[in-house]
Amino acid sequence: MEKRIATPTVTREILADYQIRLSKALGQNFLIDGNIIEKIVNIAEIKSGDQIIEIGPGIGSLTQALLERIEDGRLFAIEKDERMVQILKELFQAEQLTLIHRDVLDIDWPEFFTENALLDKPVKLAANLPYYITTPIIMGLLEARVPVERYVFMVQKEVAERMVAKPGGKDYGALSIAVQYYTRPEICHIVPPSVFIPQPDVKSAIIKLETNEIPPVQLEDERFFFQIVQAIFQQRRKNLKNSLSKAANIRLDRELIEESLQEMGIPEGTRGEMLDLSEIGQLSNILFKGMEDKVN
Ligand code: SAM
Repeated sequence: MEKRIATPTVTREILADYQIRLSKALGQNFLIDGNIIEKIVNIAEIKSGDQIIEIGPGIGSLTQALLERIEDGRLFAIEKDERMVQILKELFQAEQLTLIHRDVLDIDWPEFFTENALLDKPVKLAANLPYYITTPIIMGLLEARVPVERYVFMVQKEVAERMVAKPGGKDYGALSIAVQYYTRPEICHIVPPSVFIPQPDVKSAIIKLETNEIPPVQLEDERFFFQIVQAIFQQRRKNLKNSLSKAANIRLDRELIEESLQEMGIPEGTRGEMLDLSEIGQLSNILFKGMEDKVN
């Protein structure tokens, strides 16, 4: 494909040629602004030889720019809509591109990395994500702990704000904790609806997540930590003592909760959403050790 796909004219031409009606259900809002594409590619610092995974390539506006930069690298593009896969096959013949016709939520990431010999190489993810499944896509990737060095995503602005949120505000929650435990998130640009066809009802943001080599808090047990996070934020209006003692996913006795809060010098009436990542980590470590001591 010689022409720039990320322009209103070429995008409309391709959609008309293939008689495509875009699907709202699949979050199909296509980028038509070359400057925004350039920003994504620059923030991802895409260079020759890179191994890239793109989720939801659509008709290839970002794919085109990624392919130009990677030269002898590899690009894996995962797309659910068969119509898009057909278009991409016709538009791009580059041997560096592997098109994968799958629902991204069905991908077993460790298996995917092994099968594609990606485990020993630095991998980057770049995508204008389908907004209706942003959180499950990001959580699935982070929890899989595959060796991705950097993620650059276009997401709904509100979701980007939740990822970078600090304690106390309404945006702060389980997503903030998980993203900030695994990565260092940064909102790089706020993007208006006018750069998409069709225009979404919301503003967007380009977010960069840089993977943490060493987690910002040392945990006794990661699974237990995330159970505590879930307990705290599922009942975020409750104080810590109540939300932890009523946690559906773990059985903690009230005495242990009281002792643990005391040890950390946290007043019992404090709400969990006031604690930062390292305080929640510390609390989960104390509770975990307390439970172990009880068993032994
Ligand atoms: N990258 C293109 C662009 O920027 O113009 C398209 C981005 S559009 C916001 C999201 C893309 O994700 C669409 O092409 C849509 O078909 C695809 N998609 C939606 N749900 C998907 C899923 N579960 N798995 C893989 N791709 C999906």
